[in-house]
Amino acid sequence: MHELSICLSLLREVERAARGRSVTEITLAVGPLSGVEPQQLKRAFAVARAGTIAKDAELICRMRPVCFACSACGQEVEAPLDALSCPSCGDWQVRLRSGDKLLLESVTLADGVEKANL
Ligand SMILES: [Zn+2]
Repeated sequence: MHELSICLSLLREVERAARGRSVTEITLAVGPLSGVEPQQLKRAFAVARAGTIAKDAELICRMRPVCFACSACGQEVEAPLDALSCPSCGDWQVRLRSGDKLLLESVTLADGVEKANL
């Protein structure tokens, strides 16, 4: 199961950040092109968190837009684009900047400390 292995590696990252303290909340930034389905991820997380420092933690998935950048003028554009060309200069050489990844955004610990941008 794809989601379960994602959760397990996520929990390893969380455990490193929390250093033994218990975790109440985990926030993820989910790119639409990451292939991750938040509902399935949450279901997998409910299984994966058992016995870890995040066993009572809530998983929050924030959807992030797909973002492109123009190779010609550097303009950044959020998808959906009408066509795959730059709305600023019309160049078609746009490349994907973000939206294809799943990132651990922040972890909230039981003592109220939030660790962001891990
Ligand atoms: Zn451009």
